[in-house]
Amino acid sequence: MQIIILQDQEQITELASDFIVELLDNKPSAVLGLATGSTPLDLYSKLAELNQQQRISFKNVTTFNLDEYLGIPADHSLSYRCFMNTHLFKHIDIPYENTHLPNSMTDNPKQESIDYDRLISETGGIDLQLLGIGVNGHIGFNEPSSSLASRTRVKTLTQSTLQANSRFFSAGETQPRLAITMGIGTIMEAKQILLLAYGEDKADAIKASIEGPITAMCPASILQMHPEVTFILDETAARKLDNINYYKQVYEENKRLLRGK
Ligand code: PGA
Repeated sequence: MQIIILQDQEQITELASDFIVELLDNKPSAVLGLATGSTPLDLYSKLAELNQQQRISFKNVTTFNLDEYLGIPADHSLSYRCFMNTHLFKHIDIPYENTHLPNSMTDNPKQESIDYDRLISETGGIDLQLLGIGVNGHIGFNEPSSSLASRTRVKTLTQSTLQANSRFFSAGETQPRLAITMGIGTIMEAKQILLLAYGEDKADAIKASIEGPITAMCPASILQMHPEVTFILDETAARKLDNINYYKQVYEENKRLLRGK
């Protein structure tokens, strides 16, 4: 695991965008796994900026989002499809048909989930999966107690997640309690994983994910088993890590080695 602790969100965005630029430079037809929520918003703005400056192109890129609410039409302002269109897809040169989210209006969620995993495999698998993390340690909508080997499927959201996401819904709006989410096993098949976290409210989940035991009660802890995972954190999210000074030392030494190349 690579654990990088930076001063602020701006530095996190800068470094995370470097990961994606490097991937697209090496593989213009890369398959990206994408996330919604507040965490990737600045990164998406940065990617749109780099695309507009013609530094990177998404013309041959394919994307798969982690999850989608069940029962909200794609054109509804609170669907994750709408979120992705608004915050990323309509600002970059990606062909719309290359962007995938689970179908929120399916009348057969089980088949939809199987088809989603199959499509990911048929496209060659995810090269880089971007993740945020829930305050309860979830990744995608894989809530605590999710099987660590799970495939894409329907999940019922916990009270903690409903509470955290209630900020996106106005009074009187019904908040969906079900979602289709990539499974933890599906996420773990990505060749590279980049998890971003900032803010005090993520400190417990980050501590449990990086230094706790691997347990279904903290789904992100399974990332300890991934050979190519990078956590990019700000100081507040990293605050509870016992080995914080060691992680900082390793990162500084790695940077020195890279500069010496
Ligand atoms: P956030 O959500 O980016 O809005 O903090 C992350 C998550 O719940 O996975």
